[in-house]
Amino acid sequence: MALVEQIGEEGGVRRYRLKNPVTLEPIGEFVAAGSDDVRSAVERARKAQKEWAKLSFDQRAEYLWRLVDVIVERQDEIIDCVIAETGKTRNEAVSMEVMAPCLQISHYAKRARKYLATQKRPASGMLRFSKKITLVYKPLGVVGLITPWNGPVVLTANPLAQALMAGNAVVHKPSEVTPLSALVLKDLTEAAGFPEDLYQVIQGDGETGAALVSAGVDKVSFTGSVATGRKVGEACGRRLIPVTLELGGKDAMIVCADADLDRAADGAVRGSCFNTGHYCCGTERVYVPEEIYGPFVEKVVDQMKTLKQSDTGDCDVGAVFWDKQMDILCDHLADATAKGAKVLVGGGRNASLPGYFFEPTVVTDVNHDMELMKSETFGPIVAIQKVKDEEEAIRLANDSEYGLSGNVWTTDLEKGVAIGERVETGSVSVNDISVTYGIAEAPFGGVKSSGVGQVNGETGIRGYCHTHPIIVDTSKKAQGGYPYTIEGANGMQKFVKRLFGNRFLRKLVV
Ligand code: NAD
Repeated sequence: MALVEQIGEEGGVRRYRLKNPVTLEPIGEFVAAGSDDVRSAVERARKAQKEWAKLSFDQRAEYLWRLVDVIVERQDEIIDCVIAETGKTRNEAVSMEVMAPCLQISHYAKRARKYLATQKRPASGMLRFSKKITLVYKPLGVVGLITPWNGPVVLTANPLAQALMAGNAVVHKPSEVTPLSALVLKDLTEAAGFPEDLYQVIQGDGETGAALVSAGVDKVSFTGSVATGRKVGEACGRRLIPVTLELGGKDAMIVCADADLDRAADGAVRGSCFNTGHYCCGTERVYVPEEIYGPFVEKVVDQMKTLKQSDTGDCDVGAVFWDKQMDILCDHLADATAKGAKVLVGGGRNASLPGYFFEPTVVTDVNHDMELMKSETFGPIVAIQKVKDEEEAIRLANDSEYGLSGNVWTTDLEKGVAIGERVETGSVSVNDISVTYGIAEAPFGGVKSSGVGQVNGETGIRGYCHTHPIIVDTSKKAQGGYPYTIEGANGMQKFVKRLFGNRFLRKLVV
């Protein structure tokens, strides 16, 4: 049974019905916006942005502080809506969709002024005597924000806060799997007194997302799968607009022989099962040297067996948010077992519950011929591969088309950092599950197929701006100019030879 079902199409208008993944009861309907609706939303946003950009950082921040007040006051509305749409646990709804957004919005309300302060400085080297540089961080205009279903509020609130504090307006296309949470957030921004049309939500499917990309926006902030990311990247390339692509991953966990095994086993379980495994930086592959393999697997198995699932909300591992994801989990597991993998815990859909629950699962004897170790699985599965040593673990961790994040476990912290440097991913954690996205000032983004560009912190918020250099000539007289003479060109050549022909002077003048 489809949780997101198209129930009609009339005159190009597509209507969808949503179902709760835990109860399978209908929870709402929505209509996908057409390209004309999207275009007019962008035009309205452009008008709102002009006024918004005139405000000071403190004035913009005041709106964000009010939004945090409203989120804190009305957090149950977010929690109830996210749980109804996704079936995630209450703990995860609070930590991921309320606490993290409060932290991120507050971070940019407080720090955007510093991150985006106009900078004035002399040019470097010999130009310092005649040129002064003023760097102004100018807003881009209207940002098209396209988001996935696994963190409907957090993955919206974070880019929204950055785009707004940088002086932009935002038109948001949430996932068709979780469109209602976006409406709750929109409602909260209205309660916080946001100017009309500054943040707009357009409901819809992939077609609506594509329409937003070509509706005249000045930047696209996209979070989602690699396949869609490629399409969005191509469309932005054709329009010559900037884009950040935050895409899928296949994060590896490297357990060193000297790791604290209790802590590492706990990390494997949390990293794989958090948010039902629907976490872009979730642990998808675990590499363990043979000398600690037995005890490590035993600890993981013991802990995985204790994880509860229920349809009452009081559980450790919630529902699978989307029926299509359930199919992927079952396919990857079937492929792995057909190729020799062993299932030690769980192993399929939880038949004791009516909703879309997948049992917390431990699989061993896996290898890189299996989809489970190659493609993004995005479910509560701990897949453990025995390796000879740490070197083999690093080699296998890097044997992936993805490069989002990953984690290294060792009691030798310097070694952890050294291994972290060798892992070919956008970020890495030592002795923790991948937490980079939650550390507001850490630039976050994937390498290889996991993305283009970085979000968050100073780097991320500057991505919502054009860095506009204004160069002022402070010399008393005009420099150079017409008429050209051969003597002038000869003089320049001598100057180049004298200055750049000498290594000492070369360093002095730049
Ligand atoms: P998806 O790519 O299917 O959809 C993402 C969004 O794109 C949705 O809103 C969808 O409607 C829209 N869309 C679909 N086709 C489009 C098109 N042609 N043009 C424009 N928009 C279009 O991804 P999903 O299944 O919703 O999300 C899960 C994926 O997101 C996973 O791969 C996960 O790893 C990834 N993700 C990445 C990060 C990160 O920060 N790197 C964070 C969360 C999720």
